[in-house]
Amino acid sequence: RRLVLSTLSLFIIRIRIRLYLHQVLRIVAKDVTQLPLIKSLEQFTEFELDFWRDVSNVDTPVDIRVPAHSLQSVKLYLETYEIGYSVMIEDLQAMLDEEQQEMDSAARSAEFFNTDSFDFSNYHTIDEIYSFQDQLVAENPNLVSKIVIGQSYQGRDLNVLKFSTGGSNRPAIWIDTGIHSREWVTQASGTWFAKKIVTDYGRDPALTAILNQMDIFLEIVTNPDGFVYTHTSNRMWRKTRKPNPGSSCVGVDPNRNWDAGFGGAGASGSPCSETYRGPSAHSESEVKSIVDFVKSHGNLKAFISIHAYSQMLLYPYGYSYTPAKDQAELHTLAEKAITDLKSLYGTSYTYGSIIDTIYQASGSTVDWTYNQGIKYSYTFELRDTGRYGFVLPANQIIPTAQETWLALMAIMTHTNNNPY
Ligand SMILES: [Zn+2]
Repeated sequence: RRLVLSTLSLFIIRIRIRLYLHQVLRIVAKDVTQLPLIKSLEQFTEFELDFWRDVSNVDTPVDIRVPAHSLQSVKLYLETYEIGYSVMIEDLQAMLDEEQQEMDSAARSAEFFNTDSFDFSNYHTIDEIYSFQDQLVAENPNLVSKIVIGQSYQGRDLNVLKFSTGGSNRPAIWIDTGIHSREWVTQASGTWFAKKIVTDYGRDPALTAILNQMDIFLEIVTNPDGFVYTHTSNRMWRKTRKPNPGSSCVGVDPNRNWDAGFGGAGASGSPCSETYRGPSAHSESEVKSIVDFVKSHGNLKAFISIHAYSQMLLYPYGYSYTPAKDQAELHTLAEKAITDLKSLYGTSYTYGSIIDTIYQASGSTVDWTYNQGIKYSYTFELRDTGRYGFVLPANQIIPTAQETWLALMAIMTHTNNNPY
């Protein structure tokens, strides 16, 4: 089957939010007393700040996107309190324009006859990714199938690729990418992983051993409404697209919406916040569909939820200081995974529990999956550490996916070798 991707989208006039002179500031606290002062910036809602990286500890910088109209005030605030900062991204819109130009010129040659000729080194729209998924299933009917686990708020299918060599309800590994829609390198990496699995099965003994005993489920576009919105309207969109009654702000943070410490510290009750937890646990169909899938499957052994950016590998808990009962094993395996990852291009990751490594976060995906009994529950934060942040250049997609794959293989192999 010949797939010709439409170039029509090139001619559609897109109304986008332009981020003229938005800057991303990198703020570095010199001691712990400065952390709450930085955090307090959130309270100035009129500044319309977007925390790309939230306040964590003195070793981790805070990255904030600051709209033009607030730049002077924010800089003055920081200087008043003698808080050090630098301009990480001078002109965000210029970077986005460059990204869009690259996508548009790639789209002119986006025709692909099979998944071998799919352009993995460029970012793609949801239509292109969904076409790729269908084509991959068509080419590998004995290995790959597509299941629809539900619909997004706006009615888009929530597609999951199932890689299976047989059996019924085998122990399984779950991987998702793109639950935060603006983290584009994750959906792009997920697409690459899908191709990697069909390429390596029967060739790579390690992957073959896994697939001879386990199934792999992969949801590439986990927040489709948000993802479409990042392409059509606002590249910086993170949340779902469900309206919030009584508020003009749209969307829920789907990584604060899970029933694990839901409503606790490290999530917001305000619909306008980027970390808004939602009206109730599992209120978002994008989350609830995974919850229902996990429960009905009942035999998931690893659950890996992939984000960007910061270069971290994290395990539960985020909502509680109580160590996970498997902490020692999760820690050792994380260390192995990031060591393997680093071996390819030297990319350094930090690792540990969510609460120890970054900050308290309640209602997150892997806390819930871990509490469901899925021992190997991990969250990745892929490249980079802030030079480009969410706007990672497309020429880093394949290297990012390749190195991440080594870490995934470490986790999947360990899961396969340690049935429980
Ligand atoms: Zn994220």
